Amino acid sequence: MLNSLSDRLSEVLKKIKGWGSLTEKNIRDGLREIKLALLEADVNYKVVKEFIDGATKEAMGEKVIKSLTPAQQFTKVVHDYLVKILGEKAHDMNIKTGGISNIMLVGLQGSGKTTTAVKLAKFVLENFNKKPLLVAADIYRPAAIKQLVSLAGKNGFEVFKEDGKKPEQITGDAYKYAKDHGYGAIIVDTAGRLELDEDMMEELKRIKKVLKPDEILLVADAATGQAAVSVAEGFNRELGITGIILSRMDSDARGGAALSMSYITGKYIKFIGTGEKIEDFEKFYPDRIADRILNMGDVVSLVEKVQKEYDIEKAKKLEKKIKKDNFDLNDFLDQIKQLKKMGPLENILEMIPGMPKKLNLKVDERDLKRTEAIINSMTPEERAHYKIINGSRRKRIALGSGTTVFEVNRLLNNFQQMKKMMKKFSKNKGRMSGDMFSSLMGRN
Ligand code: GDP
Repeated sequence: MLNSLSDRLSEVLKKIKGWGSLTEKNIRDGLREIKLALLEADVNYKVVKEFIDGATKEAMGEKVIKSLTPAQQFTKVVHDYLVKILGEKAHDMNIKTGGISNIMLVGLQGSGKTTTAVKLAKFVLENFNKKPLLVAADIYRPAAIKQLVSLAGKNGFEVFKEDGKKPEQITGDAYKYAKDHGYGAIIVDTAGRLELDEDMMEELKRIKKVLKPDEILLVADAATGQAAVSVAEGFNRELGITGIILSRMDSDARGGAALSMSYITGKYIKFIGTGEKIEDFEKFYPDRIADRILNMGDVVSLVEKVQKEYDIEKAKKLEKKIKKDNFDLNDFLDQIKQLKKMGPLENILEMIPGMPKKLNLKVDERDLKRTEAIINSMTPEERAHYKIINGSRRKRIALGSGTTVFEVNRLLNNFQQMKKMMKKFSKNKGRMSGDMFSSLMGRN
C-alpha cells in the first residue's frame, strides 16, 4: 500500500535524523524533498501546497529547531500534516439505530462497487447488527447482477433484484421488501459508467430521490491517478456524496491521488478495500495510514485485526509471555493456527513497523503444515522447554512428523532466532525483520 510514497518519505526522514541538529536551511531542504516525494506519488498539487506551507510554518518554529529531539519533532510535524489532509480522525457511518438505514454506492464501472457492496454488508451486520439487503440496481450488465448474487450468496447475504424495471423502481420495491421482511439496512449497488456521464448522474439522482439515503458512498479505485480526483469532484458536485471508500489500496499504484480525494472534495474517506476477499475491508484511520506511510508501522490496526480473529484474553496472555520471554513452542503452534485463520499474511505483515515493504513474501501453506506437524510430534514438555530437545529426540520427532532431522533442526534454530527478535522487539529496541517471518514459516 502506497509503497513508493512510503519509501521516499521514510528515506527523507531518515536522512533528516542523520543530520542531528536542524537549521532553517536544512528543514527547507527536507521539506523540498518531501514535496517532490508527494508530487511524485501523484498527490494533488493543491494538497501538496497546503501540506508544505503548513508544515514549513510549524517546523520552523522553536518547538522543532530548539527541541531536544528536532528530527523526531520534525517527523511528528510531517505525520500530523499527513493526518490532517487524510481527514484528521476516523469518521463513522451514518447509521440509524432503529428503522432501515439506506446506503447508496456510486462510482465508475470497475471501481470495485459490487465487491465493496458485499464487504459493506458484512461490516453493517457485524458492527451495527443490522441485517442488510443488497439491491442490484446495475440493470445494464447482467454479469454484474450475477456477480453480486454469487458473491453475496457465498457470504450469506440476500440480493433484491427485479427484471424489466428501472433502477429507481427496483430501489423503491427493495425498500418495501426490506420493511416487510425485517431488514435493517439497504445497500444499493448502482450502475457505473466508464467515465462521468450525464445519463448515469440523472439515474443516480432518481435513485437518490426514491431512497433518501443516509449515506451516498463513492467507491473509488485507489490505483487510478489524478483522474480519480476529478471523478470524485464530479460525483460530489452532482449528487452530494457523504463519504468515500477507496478500493484496491493493496495495489502497488502510487496512490497519492486517492489520498488527495478527501481534502479536495471535503468528504471523508470512511473505508478502504485492501484485497479481493470480503474480509479485506477496513475502517479508514488517518493517523494509522500516516503511520504506515511514514513507516512508523500500523501497530494499532495490526492489534485490532489480530484481536478480531484472536481470542483477546489469549492475545493478552501471549503478550505477557513474549515480554517475559516465556514464549514456547505451544504458543508458536497456536500462532500458526491463528495465522492460518487470519487470511493473507502479506497484508498483516505490511502493517508491522519497519517491515521492508518489498518483501514479496509469499506464504506457503505447506510450510505451515510441516511446521505444525513437527510441533505436534513433540511431547508437551518439549514444547514448553525446547532446549531439552537433543539429538535423539530430534530423530524421533522427525520420524513422527514425516519430516527430516534437518527440518526439525531448522525449525528449532528459527524458533530460537525468533525468540531473540521478539525479545528485542518487545523492548522496542529492535525492529521486526523479514527474517523473523521467514523463520516463522519454517523457511531459511
Ligand atoms: P464494479 O464494476 O465497480 O462493480 O467493480 P467490481 O466489484 O466488479 O470489482 C472489479 C474488480 O476489482 C474485481 O476483480 C474485484 O475482485 C476487484 N477488487 C475490488 N475491490 C478490491 C480491492 O480492494 N483490492 C483488490 N486487489 N481488488 C479489488
